[in-house]
Amino acid sequence: MVAQEKQTILICDDEPDIVTLTQRFLEMGGYETITCNSGKEAIKIIEEHHEKIILVLLDIMMPGKSGYKVLEEIKSNENYQDIIVVLFTVKSFNEDVQKGKRLGADFYITKPFSGKDLLDTINRILKK
Ligand SMILES: [Mg+2]
Repeated sequence: MVAQEKQTILICDDEPDIVTLTQRFLEMGGYETITCNSGKEAIKIIEEHHEKIILVLLDIMMPGKSGYKVLEEIKSNENYQDIIVVLFTVKSFNEDVQKGKRLGADFYITKPFSGKDLLDTINRILKK
């Protein structure tokens, strides 16, 4: 039997601690990860690897290209329509959720979160 190929998740957040925590838990959960710290990098990675990226975990507030802008670019490109986009939002910012919804975000994860909750949520989204 051929081992099932790992699913690849792109993590994009300008806070290195968030990226490290997220990466650690997703890899413990059996996912392959690619990480970056800016929207500009995220777009470049998606251009190169969109065929294997199943899901993008995307911070909204980043210097330069924001998560909203990245989300918009993903959702408006038909080559990327199978990519699930999960936004990191800050609890009190209901506005984030509304705007994200308009731009086509699939799910949200509220900051702050625990690594375990994050992994549980991603597993649920990917039905594992
Ligand atoms: Mg940020």
